[in-house]
Amino acid sequence: MLPSFAYARPTTLDEAVKALADSQGRVHAGGTDLLGCLRDGVFATPTLVSLSGVSGLRGLDETAEGGLRIGALTTLTEIAESEVVRARYRALAEAAASVASPQLRNQGTLGGNLCQKPRCWYYRGDFHCLRKGGDTCFAAAGENQYHCLFGGESCFIVHPSDTAPALVALGAALRIVGPGGTRSVPVEAFHVLPSVDYRRETVLEPGEIVAEVILPPSAPGLRSTYRKVRARASWDFALVGAAFALRLAGDTVREARVAFSGVAPVPWRAKAVESALNGHRLNAATIGNAAAAAVKGAAPLAHNGYKVPLLRGLVEERLEAIARG
Ligand SMILES: Cc1cc2nc3c(=O)[nH]c(=O)nc-3n(C[C@H](O)[C@H](O)[C@H](O)COP(=O)(O)OP(=O)(O)OC[C@H]3O[C@@H](n4cnc5c(N)ncnc54)[C@H](O)[C@@H]3O)c2cc1C
Repeated sequence: MLPSFAYARPTTLDEAVKALADSQGRVHAGGTDLLGCLRDGVFATPTLVSLSGVSGLRGLDETAEGGLRIGALTTLTEIAESEVVRARYRALAEAAASVASPQLRNQGTLGGNLCQKPRCWYYRGDFHCLRKGGDTCFAAAGENQYHCLFGGESCFIVHPSDTAPALVALGAALRIVGPGGTRSVPVEAFHVLPSVDYRRETVLEPGEIVAEVILPPSAPGLRSTYRKVRARASWDFALVGAAFALRLAGDTVREARVAFSGVAPVPWRAKAVESALNGHRLNAATIGNAAAAAVKGAAPLAHNGYKVPLLRGLVEERLEAIARG
């Protein structure tokens, strides 16, 4: 059952920031993740501050620089179906289309997708784990088949968002509005590793709201794609996933940005893969090197070793698809 809370429905961003700061409440966007967390007692809040009445947080517009601005309240369906996103930022369209089910994509927003809580079954269950204020990560020596290969330290969650790795690969930034004003944060710097702070998932400070996502102009020759492997074909979170944004001149990779989902507590920028690609022709040898680089440094736990060959194979398969054109 849902616990009791007050509900505020401001109509401007300033009012929403003030309501959040005054009440120490939480943002309510689509509610597809939030309400489950409240119902299951993952956390509590005195007040929900709905963004649904705030105008200007929905929709997609071209920026003056030729990029794209996407309001945080834009639904995943709108993003997946947008002609502009599909044509210029395909990885993002594919990532949005791969989230959950049609009903959840109709309700779930881009901002909520980036800010959602981890899906670790200990964190979501009746366990007073490290991330919830306890002193033990139960996954470390427990059931860890869905946990991380990289970046785990004290806590071994994987970051659940599909759109975040696509936005990292595409070099997107967030406009964040809060009591202290407005700031811009690259999506790559938005999520927090357990080694930095295992009690938080993002750099958001109390009262701050993600207002919009800014994508840079799509460079000539940019090819981008996102794919995840999941346990169920219908809908599921990523076991492993990979987003690629490759700027090609002929068959040579001029610039590569690559980020993984399902394997780290944050969207995981794969710089070793990028180095294996940059300046090289996208042929079988380069693809083999990039796939090997993808799993270098992986530190599997007792039950998630299967993710290593899965990730390697996924990188190989996606790069071959890009090379075929
Ligand atoms: C059955 C099921 C399957 C799912 N499968 C997937 C999946 O495959 N891939 C995937 O990526 N996700 C999945 N999700 C998670 C979720 O539905 C989506 O991530 C969705 O996009 C969340 O958006 P929302 O608007 O509903 O967020 P909410 O539930 O409203 O919010 C989520 C969190 O973000 C905070 N928040 C929301 N918006 C903002 C903002 N603008 N600024 C600051 N904080 C904010 C909220 O306070 C809350 O803590 C699944 C969820 C369910 C229930």
